[in-house]
Amino acid sequence: MKYLIIRDDDLSYWTSKDEIEEKYAPFLNKGFRVSFGIISDSVRSYNLGNYDTFYQDFDLQKNINENKELVSFIKDELFKNRIDILVHGHNHTYYFNTCTIKELLPATHENLTLARQNNKKIFFFGEFNNGQITKKMYLDKLQNAISTFKSVFNIEPTVFIPPSNQLCDNALKAIQSYNLNISGLYGKNHLSVYQNILRLYYSKFHKIHYPHIYKNITNQLSYHSLTTASSFDDLVLKLEISNKLNAPFQIATHYWELDYNLLSQLSEICNYAKRIGYIPIKLSQILHK
Ligand SMILES: [Zn+2]
Repeated sequence: MKYLIIRDDDLSYWTSKDEIEEKYAPFLNKGFRVSFGIISDSVRSYNLGNYDTFYQDFDLQKNINENKELVSFIKDELFKNRIDILVHGHNHTYYFNTCTIKELLPATHENLTLARQNNKKIFFFGEFNNGQITKKMYLDKLQNAISTFKSVFNIEPTVFIPPSNQLCDNALKAIQSYNLNISGLYGKNHLSVYQNILRLYYSKFHKIHYPHIYKNITNQLSYHSLTTASSFDDLVLKLEISNKLNAPFQIATHYWELDYNLLSQLSEICNYAKRIGYIPIKLSQILHK
């Protein structure tokens, strides 16, 4: 089915409501739908998108409910049925290691400055890709996030977006325990032989990740990034392949990197998708079991 999904990941206490409104109202007013990933208790991040200077303050963690303006905007748009909200981790902390530091360290200013001074290549791990965290701890994180969705927005979330698009095994099991669907394709070790053959078939013969809804313990749908690092021509090509396969098309981006150029690209690809028959939809609707 030719459905178009716009996914934006990082809404949290630290997000300016004006920025979201300024960037997405033109899309919503034209009939597009936006699926927002919500970080219920985000820590403060600095220099997002800049690998060499990025760090986080783990002591500054705030619940989204403290940003009344943003919460009220989200509630209004939920009421108008133009957006949906998805769980994007609990606090979106990053951890890192290097070839000499084996254990995962919090991505704080102090830890990263030391590693950078030593000129080591840094490998970042998203909040739900920390092998040092047990399934029980992931369950607690999800419990916290879900209770914020219920108490603040009166919503029972049904979809999870992995922070930084990474999931470890314990995290995947915890997400499955909560019966959440997932944006992106994860857990290929849990797939049947037939499903793995399908994956290979699409990547070899159509040059695309499996484009339809993956029915599994959790339903999953692949996404296509629109970021400063991605290629717009490639995104258009993937849309055209999806179109031929009569498959949905999910664009994933971040409001904080949507500059004039990226916003124009988002607008161009959404309008193109609409022209060739794509129908805007919310991610939770299409992944619904
Ligand atoms: Zn994120």
